[in-house]
Amino acid sequence: MRPEDILIPTPNGVCCKLGGFHIDPTRPVDKAVITHGHSDHARAGHGAVLATQETLDLMRLRYGENFAGSTQAIKYGESLSLGGAKVTLHPAGHVLGSAQIAVEANGLRVVASGDYKNVSDPTCAPFELVPCDVFITEATFGLPVFRHGDPDAEIAKLLHSVALFPERAHLIGAYSLGKAQRVIALIRKAGHDKQIYLHGSMEKITRYYQNRGIDLGAVELVREAKKAELAGTITLCPPSTLKELWSRRFPDPVTCFASGWMRVRARARKHLVELPLVISDHADWEGLTATIVATGASEVWVTHGQEDALVHWSATRGLRARPLDIVGYGDEDETDGVAENPGEAP
Ligand SMILES: [Zn+2]
Ligand SMILES: [Zn+2]
Repeated sequence: MRPEDILIPTPNGVCCKLGGFHIDPTRPVDKAVITHGHSDHARAGHGAVLATQETLDLMRLRYGENFAGSTQAIKYGESLSLGGAKVTLHPAGHVLGSAQIAVEANGLRVVASGDYKNVSDPTCAPFELVPCDVFITEATFGLPVFRHGDPDAEIAKLLHSVALFPERAHLIGAYSLGKAQRVIALIRKAGHDKQIYLHGSMEKITRYYQNRGIDLGAVELVREAKKAELAGTITLCPPSTLKELWSRRFPDPVTCFASGWMRVRARARKHLVELPLVISDHADWEGLTATIVATGASEVWVTHGQEDALVHWSATRGLRARPLDIVGYGDEDETDGVAENPGEAP
């Protein structure tokens, strides 16, 4: 049996013919297995969806009750037989509920990791290393220049600035699903216990995280606060709102942006960011390459992002490697996920 008999790349996403399903399909299909709730991976309109309970809940929050014909929740570590294939989900460490999908048949294991990071995150289960024959990896930050560094040091920079400018408000642009909640949790971990404010578009997802037992402390909607009260406070908002009229409600705001791209000065400038915070929910170059080696895979398939460098690196290590060229996966570290609220197009 060849790996392609288990999973085969198609323009709609990776397909398991044996099991009759697609993983993170970019177009509606009969059966989908979904790695995580980000809108480019989790789309509405499939017949049946298999995913973790959290991913199903997040899809329901965004797309409404009827986002799929039917759904089935599966726990991490639990296996399911689909056709001739065994499917098991393992934590991907990317956002709440995110999973790597291991597909096995005839003693051959292929792991589709979705988006992942091998860095601790107080808001989701840690990445689990799954030994496999073929590893499908993302490559959002697949260039050696990308080193994300220590997220706690970035939060320390933020809190230092808050202490330095008690008369100013700090506005942090962050992706609505995962990043915003992680930043809040990291701020709490650093010992900051004051009220944190939220842009309204982040409320549902943040409340969901809290309902799942993620401790985010006191979080309130910013629309309920008066301008003067916002001096010396921190507010999380979608990055696009940093440049908008909306930000004028804040006293002399310090604009921050939490993203792996903040390593690149030009990107920070483009977003008019005063205080860039290099915090990413994706593995950096070191994380990607270390993970590939640790899986023991002899073959690597690379998807969305800087595919070429990682394919080249794998080949120099004697691994078989190919880019998947699937169109439709985005880059949530760059955008803000505002278009993903219920009622809007996926
Ligand atoms: Zn993602
Ligand atoms: Zn992705």
